[in-house]
Amino acid sequence: MKNIELFRNSLKKFLPEERIITDEFRRLAYGTDASFYRLIPEIVLIAENENDVIKIIKSSNEFHVPITFRAAGTSLSGQAVTDSVLVVISRSWKNYSIAEDAAFIDLQPSVVGAFANLYLKKHSKKIGPDPASINSAMIGGIAANNASGMCCGTAQNSYNTLKGMRIIFSDGFVLDTRDKKSISEFIFKKKDLVDKIEMLSSSVKDNSELADRIRAKFKMKNTTGYSINSLVDFSDPIDIIQHLMIGSEGTLGFISEIRYETIYESPFKASALMIFDSIHSACKAVPVIKKNKVDAVELMDRAALHSVENKKGMPEYLKTLPETAAALLVETSGKDIQQLEDFVSSICEGLKDFVFLVPLNFTSVKNEYETFWKIRKGLFPSVGAMREAGTTVIIEDVCFPLIKLADAAIDLQRLFRKYNYNEAIIFGHALEGNLHFVFNQDFNTEKEVSRYKAFMDELVKLVVNKYDGSLKAEHGTGRNMAPFVEYEWGNQAYRIMQEIKNIFDPKNLLNPGVLLNTDKNIHVKNLKPMPAAHEIVDKCIECGFCEINCPSKDLTLTPRQRIVTLREISRLKSTGENNAKLNTFIEQYNYFGNQTCATDGLCQLACPVDINTGTMIKEIRSEKISKTADSVASLIADNMDIVTEVMRKMLLTVNFIHKILGSKTMQFLSDLFRKISFGKIPRWNKFFPTSADKILLDSNKVSELKVVYFPSCIARSMGVTVNSDTDKSLTTVTINLLKKAGYEIIFPENLNKLCCGMPFASKGFVKQGNQKSVELLSALIKASDEGKYPILFDTSPCLQRIKEFIEKKNKTFYNALKIYEPVEFILDFVIDKLDIEKKNKPIALHITCSSRKMNLEEKFKQLASKFSDEVIIPAEVGCCGFAGDRGFTHPELNKSALKDLKNAIPNDCHEGFSNSKTCEIGLSEHSGIEYRSIIYLVDKYSKEKK
Ligand SMILES: Cc1cc2nc3c(=O)[nH]c(=O)nc-3n(C[C@H](O)[C@H](O)[C@H](O)COP(=O)(O)OP(=O)(O)OC[C@H]3O[C@@H](n4cnc5c(N)ncnc54)[C@H](O)[C@@H]3O)c2cc1C
Ligand code: SF4
Ligand code: SF4
Repeated sequence: MKNIELFRNSLKKFLPEERIITDEFRRLAYGTDASFYRLIPEIVLIAENENDVIKIIKSSNEFHVPITFRAAGTSLSGQAVTDSVLVVISRSWKNYSIAEDAAFIDLQPSVVGAFANLYLKKHSKKIGPDPASINSAMIGGIAANNASGMCCGTAQNSYNTLKGMRIIFSDGFVLDTRDKKSISEFIFKKKDLVDKIEMLSSSVKDNSELADRIRAKFKMKNTTGYSINSLVDFSDPIDIIQHLMIGSEGTLGFISEIRYETIYESPFKASALMIFDSIHSACKAVPVIKKNKVDAVELMDRAALHSVENKKGMPEYLKTLPETAAALLVETSGKDIQQLEDFVSSICEGLKDFVFLVPLNFTSVKNEYETFWKIRKGLFPSVGAMREAGTTVIIEDVCFPLIKLADAAIDLQRLFRKYNYNEAIIFGHALEGNLHFVFNQDFNTEKEVSRYKAFMDELVKLVVNKYDGSLKAEHGTGRNMAPFVEYEWGNQAYRIMQEIKNIFDPKNLLNPGVLLNTDKNIHVKNLKPMPAAHEIVDKCIECGFCEINCPSKDLTLTPRQRIVTLREISRLKSTGENNAKLNTFIEQYNYFGNQTCATDGLCQLACPVDINTGTMIKEIRSEKISKTADSVASLIADNMDIVTEVMRKMLLTVNFIHKILGSKTMQFLSDLFRKISFGKIPRWNKFFPTSADKILLDSNKVSELKVVYFPSCIARSMGVTVNSDTDKSLTTVTINLLKKAGYEIIFPENLNKLCCGMPFASKGFVKQGNQKSVELLSALIKASDEGKYPILFDTSPCLQRIKEFIEKKNKTFYNALKIYEPVEFILDFVIDKLDIEKKNKPIALHITCSSRKMNLEEKFKQLASKFSDEVIIPAEVGCCGFAGDRGFTHPELNKSALKDLKNAIPNDCHEGFSNSKTCEIGLSEHSGIEYRSIIYLVDKYSKEKK
């Protein structure tokens, strides 16, 4: 038996089968990261805790099988891919704790960087490292890559803000550097390792030339090779060891927890977009600016500015700048306004001898400076989005001594021209001399690969020989720069790095081939194919930013993985190389890719190139529709009044049975029927609604204040749950609230036949979806007297659907009709007409995907805060995955998406609010508290104004 098979068999003793993934489809999907390398793991393991990792490491030792750890997989240099065993940690390891004075935070490795900052926000603190990928990247990856960004420089990166770490070594031994007992035990039991590290450190310190060179090179951002600065910066071996782990890219051990010193976040900020006549003068200004208190100085060359100048909201003058121009985006901040003004004047004073093409002006107006930062953040995607299908976008990351930055930037531009990378743009963290450049690369032909290789060879020489810079400033060495580590560092330092690897991982089982690699061509091997698959997703750069928003990420696939597997299906179709594999992939895609996509489109919110994978899935669904299904959908669409009435009757019957049988028996029977019907019968839960009240509108007083109220088909058929403290349906409560606020209510004509069309469109029934939207639109136009009166929808997703539809199909009415969902309407037009009583109890909120897409998060919080001082919005809970009726047919999606909900809700919180009935059913089941529309909250705690 092969070692890998023996290894796999050994895993079965401690890992459940579903966490040992061996099918090719998912190995490909889970094996992909953001780099342009493709290695497919033999096995993917889902590790949930330290015990799992220790046992996996021990088995890897026993059978000599290499392993690679994976956090969010946003690495760019090939350090998170493997053809051996991939250990995925991103589904668990999310705990954190903050010191009483918030001076430090302890974080498990799968906490997303941005969440750590969210937890620290109320203390006016943040973590130091700030990669641009912070909204997706996880702490394990941030620390193991020593990732950094616009503000943190070298002073606040992981290396310099590290206060402690829990490490699992290559033999499974655990050291907690925050615990004296653990340290003593480590020093005693791992004496050999400790001695070797001490000796290595002494030998480097004794070699003053080498020690000085290491210190000098780490004054710049540098992630080429290991953090050998720890050998000269510290004398305590424990300190050296934990700092060596930073930037070690999973090759020395596993980071199981990390303690970061926290950074004070100044609340008052101002930014200026400074336009210079040349990149040379922009770079010359950087050292002058650096003398002041500045948080970020971002350089953008003319090509970079060109790439965004036509985007919405960009200043007009960008288009008129000469071809030589360049910009610096500068941000400063202060603890109060006075301090901020002092910093701004000091920066401006220092720059008085520089010539600006646009008058220098700092702004502290949030909207204005956010526009500037949009320019900067839009650069990478703008190049990615312009590339041809089938090609890759490459982002490089070099660093130069600051005083040589101007010449280096010009040399880089020359190099692009020489190798015909005409679309290449330069931007970067100028304060640190760290430049990124982005260009498109085709890896489909030998000729193109050779062009890239020749370019890289020349780049390496330029950075190392001419400028003594670093080849990777912040993205990590990976496989991409591994062949050049020795070239950059020289033989002596390289040997020290090899020795470090040997001391920590003598069997070379932890991520071998990454960071150090003797193959001089490894950077151009195993290149990832990017075949065209579907026009909606062809621009995908596989960055993985969308994964965090996806409700199916821990169940089946993420959006990135849906795209990766579809690309492979497309490749297999075009080459015809393996039909059996193609058929298996198509079959697996049906459940993993198609059926378990909630089509909520939240992936788009995080996507730098604006891809909505859900839209693609809807198109795939529509291609699969049979004639019979199409006819049935049309029949339903034509008879919505009958359908909603039948649904009401069915709910009435189901609840009658529930009352007789009780919740437990009902649940048992429902699960049983579902099982024996192979999942065809929808699943019932105790929060299943009763039927809705009939809509009755008595005493609708005539009033100047008029509103068109459109109750969704769901609200017209589904009422509250059986155990609710009220028996009033949403429609009754909404009518009551509107009347209290003095509104005269107008219902659209033929209300019972109307529907926004979403239930059809989300299943791929485009024709029927459009038919219902058209009908609803004309009813709304009439009822609102062509936009004279506002229109209220009680269900947020329906509102979003109809708004998108009108925007696409009828711009005139898009501008004329004023359509609102409950939160916005109540906040803007109802609340001031009522007397509010504050409820002194915590409440949970769930912001639906549609509300998030319509930017209503803040308004949601604002409205809820009028009723409670403690509003809980669990950070780790995104889309609930209920997806209209998918929660009934695929309850596993809802369950997986809401697995963290219950723990995030404090024991004294007994009520939850949202604005979509079907989402509320799943939220109630998985939280254990009842979720209802926020309209219930407002209605319950408000009275007519006296
Ligand atoms: C569009 C884009 C922009 C980016 N911008 C930046 C930027 O501004 N600055 C920057 O520095 N980087 C940037 N990156 C690169 C990347 O996002 C960061 O380096 C990030 O920190 C990687 O984190 P991750 O969670 O994705 O880690 P992964 O990619 O999953 O892993 C990174 C490495 O850490 C190892 N690892 C993961 N967890 C552990 C653990 N618990 N113990 C030991 N080893 C572990 C892995 O084996 C791997 O070698 C960018 C990437 C993209 C796609
Ligand atoms: S869909 Fe967008 S966010 Fe997701 S991997 Fe592709 S480019 Fe990145
Ligand atoms: S639409 Fe939703 S479920 Fe589908 S890929 Fe996007 S985020 Fe995931």
